[in-house]
Amino acid sequence: MAEHVGLCADAPLGCPCRGDATIHEDRSRALSEARATDEAVECPECGGPATSVSITSWGNCRACRTAHSRSTHPLRW
Ligand SMILES: [Zn+2]
Ligand SMILES: [Zn+2]
Repeated sequence: MAEHVGLCADAPLGCPCRGDATIHEDRSRALSEARATDEAVECPECGGPATSVSITSWGNCRACRTAHSRSTHPLRW
């Protein structure tokens, strides 16, 4: 199996590691902790309700993420 440099299996889920194992490990740990607690938290961007998993994955809530992808990929919407 060739290594996918710059892309990991979690990249579509917002993993910023780009192949850096340290960053990937940190994120995996933070994500599993977030999944374990699965608390309702406030989105730092809009202040709306979000889950700790989505904050850890993307840094904002699902609505913000949708809004971002809409502005990044306007032709898809
Ligand atoms: Zn990764
Ligand atoms: Zn938000």
